[in-house]
Amino acid sequence: MADTIIKVDLNKSPYENDMIHNRWHPDIPMVAMVKPGDDFIVESVDWTGGQIKNNDSADDVRDVDLSKVHFLSGPVGVEGAEPGDLLVVEILDIGAFEESQWGFNGFFSKQNGGGFLTEHFPEAQKTIWDFNGMFTKSRHVPGVEFAGLIHPGLIGTLPSKAMLEEWNTREKALYDTDPDRVPALATLPYADTAHMGRMKGEEAKAAAAEGARTVPPREHGGNCDIKDLSRGSTVYFPVYVDNAGLSVGDLHFSQGDGEITFCGAIEMAGWIHMRVNLIKDGMQKYGIKNPIFKPSPMAPKYDDYLIFEGISVDEGGKQHYLDVHIAYRQACLNAIEYLTKFGYSRAQAYTILGVAPVQGHISGVVDIPNACATLWLPTDIFKFEVKPNADGPKIEVDGSVQVPLSPDL
Ligand code: ZN
Repeated sequence: MADTIIKVDLNKSPYENDMIHNRWHPDIPMVAMVKPGDDFIVESVDWTGGQIKNNDSADDVRDVDLSKVHFLSGPVGVEGAEPGDLLVVEILDIGAFEESQWGFNGFFSKQNGGGFLTEHFPEAQKTIWDFNGMFTKSRHVPGVEFAGLIHPGLIGTLPSKAMLEEWNTREKALYDTDPDRVPALATLPYADTAHMGRMKGEEAKAAAAEGARTVPPREHGGNCDIKDLSRGSTVYFPVYVDNAGLSVGDLHFSQGDGEITFCGAIEMAGWIHMRVNLIKDGMQKYGIKNPIFKPSPMAPKYDDYLIFEGISVDEGGKQHYLDVHIAYRQACLNAIEYLTKFGYSRAQAYTILGVAPVQGHISGVVDIPNACATLWLPTDIFKFEVKPNADGPKIEVDGSVQVPLSPDL
């Protein structure tokens, strides 16, 4: 078995662990060194660092301190890595801890985080998902069970000083276009809750004031939340600093395309087993600006879908020009409306789209003025027939008809 080079204690604050950090900065010291060809295990807390509990109240989601996220394990240094190289990361396996076989999904309140459908779901909500081997189900969402597509929501390399400055400059410029907006247009550096790993004293203070927040995906990877970047994938990351500095966290048991519920996928603490290699000068050799990856040879096999279309006409009937964001929102809202006909509350339906292996596709971007996006809902995750038929929606679980499900979310 490979060595565990970063350990976490779920009963302790992540601030007490100097192998964890929650900002991106080139000067965060490496917490371990590995060589090209090495494989190793890294443990990770959940992205909020234990702020969300396994109970039936969403108060913790409502009150979450989002300036603290994401808690990342690392950075791991790779001997010989230099700016311009590609860091090759094979994700050999990922799992939840034996003593923590559960995860959470939620929607933030509009006042604290928001999300893709925050205008429709302005209050905080939460569901707990229990893991049974490779499957998961929730006491808060009856009638569904599915196999996990386990992946790190967040994995990336340390930025260079120049790249950090570029990030901060462009994100501040966007923020400044509407500084009073709720939720904010971007998350800017915030020193008070920064955890700079092994940096200490004045140096840590200065770095905390400019360290980039971990919320967006960027050129180095970061918080991409790609469900298909799962165990078994091979990722090629740009390297910007000596030794690369690989950090990872925000492990997900499962997620639908778009991570539309924002808090988030099925979020969990756990471990990730990786092997690293280098392609010297690979960025220039292959013209790489953002990471590329090869998906896993293994994935849950759901090949029957009910596919919902959405176009770039918003909820108010306003026409937008080829706007994929609006089109995907309509596809999601159409799927939510459909699922309510089976007895789900709108919140339960939204949760299903956030956590199940739902696919999102950009289906058309040229047919002016409407973009067309599609949401692919796997039919086999339901314990009843979810496709339309002449008899109308009805739910059969274990042979007995249950109409409707009792919405308890
Ligand atoms: Zn996440």
